Amino acid sequence: MTELSALSAVPSGARNAVLKFYFGPMDCGKSTLALQMNYNHGRQGRRGLVLTKHDRSGGPKVTSRIGLGLEAIEVEDSLDLVRLVTSHERIDYLICDEACFYTVEQIEQLADLVDEHGIDVYAFGLASDFRSVMFPGAQRLFELADEVCRLQVEVLCWCGRPGQLNARVVGGVLARTGEQVVIGDTDASPVRYQVLCRRHHRSGQLGEGGDPA
Ligand SMILES: [Zn+2]
Repeated sequence: MTELSALSAVPSGARNAVLKFYFGPMDCGKSTLALQMNYNHGRQGRRGLVLTKHDRSGGPKVTSRIGLGLEAIEVEDSLDLVRLVTSHERIDYLICDEACFYTVEQIEQLADLVDEHGIDVYAFGLASDFRSVMFPGAQRLFELADEVCRLQVEVLCWCGRPGQLNARVVGGVLARTGEQVVIGDTDASPVRYQVLCRRHHRSGQLGEGGDPA
């Protein structure tokens, strides 16, 4: 066994790694925080991987609405995250953006990486879909994470109340039914998303910023 002094780097596995889930509605700065977290860990000489799924850029990238961006690994449904990470030489942490879209099995693989491989996992994502129903991946994160944090950057509904729910707007009208995951906000898509307070998510009123109905 290697002798350690107080100043030795902490060997991975010698402390408990953590699984943290940061959640909030669209526009609350999740991807920005994910990129900042990656930067901070990288600066300390830690090695990490950045993962995403369905980023707004449409490519394997983490991009934030305020203009930051970084290449990332796209998490396809078939991707085994344990195999992905263990195929790299030494990984200290993972940044998992858009983790709400990962499969339940993949969330369990993240827990496995924390417990069996001593890797810190920082997951970011939405909690609930356009119907205000939790995404399966997000639900599994709530169940398994060591720590769950609601992001504090406040997003406001058009009425000025805190916006916590993601509405899907199709042709200017709030959608109540449909597939759980539909990528919007692209040039070709008639689908867009808008953050609303609970009251206006229920009533379907989109405010002045909404499309003319
Ligand atoms: Zn409102």
